[in-house]
Amino acid sequence: MKRLPFWRRPHFARRILDIGAGHNPFSGVTHVVEIDILQGRERAGNALVVPRSAKLIVGDGMALPFRSGSFDYVYASHVLEHVGTPESACGEIMRVGSAGYIETPSPFLEQGLALREGHTQNGLHKWYVFPLDEDVLVFEPKTPETISDFCSCPDGQFMKEFYASVDFRQAQHCFRRKAKTTIFYWKSFFRVEVRNRMAYCEGDGRVCRFRGMTRALLANCDDLLHTPRLLRLREAFPDCQGVFRKYGHRTVFIR
Ligand SMILES: [Zn+2]
Repeated sequence: MKRLPFWRRPHFARRILDIGAGHNPFSGVTHVVEIDILQGRERAGNALVVPRSAKLIVGDGMALPFRSGSFDYVYASHVLEHVGTPESACGEIMRVGSAGYIETPSPFLEQGLALREGHTQNGLHKWYVFPLDEDVLVFEPKTPETISDFCSCPDGQFMKEFYASVDFRQAQHCFRRKAKTTIFYWKSFFRVEVRNRMAYCEGDGRVCRFRGMTRALLANCDDLLHTPRLLRLREAFPDCQGVFRKYGHRTVFIR
């Protein structure tokens, strides 16, 4: 079972909901909602696991079968990248809960894998999900077109060349979880920005997803705790160092 870092756990929450927990729910939850639309597909045949502490409810994430304010804490891990209408799904989460934790694959992982494996592999994921500020969660469409499209800004071009310099299916194992997941904590309310198309920051003044991807990649490559992994990356894909240098990015890993 999954757990948040100790200092992040909802220690005083009494009613705790896990949405779409599948085969890997969070420890200590009191209710689990299994969403029909995900049944079996995303678990890849794994059996549903319901913690002994929890009641299982089969329901729809777009209309959770609970009264408003029913829960002190709501986990939604690896669910929102699948939903058709993130506004409604997030609205439901906020309606039933007073605080929570949201996790999805990061755009860095999502696009990296899709580029290598084609849209079919994780084609069930409909969105790139990333936080813009502390209280804004952005959903940008993930389509066959947007997986090979990059913003013309330096961040977009850096990411494009970085991906071309590695085989991401292998390289993904050199990155820490933090770079590969979008992690979002909220309390009482957060804003949801659902984009109907990809943002090009230089064209329409909105922050493109590549800024966050570049930041995540650089932070990862400055992580001394994971030096062996970074050395493996450098050894397996020596060309990626040149990409960092070309865009003026210095990290512990690239000088
Ligand atoms: Zn951009």
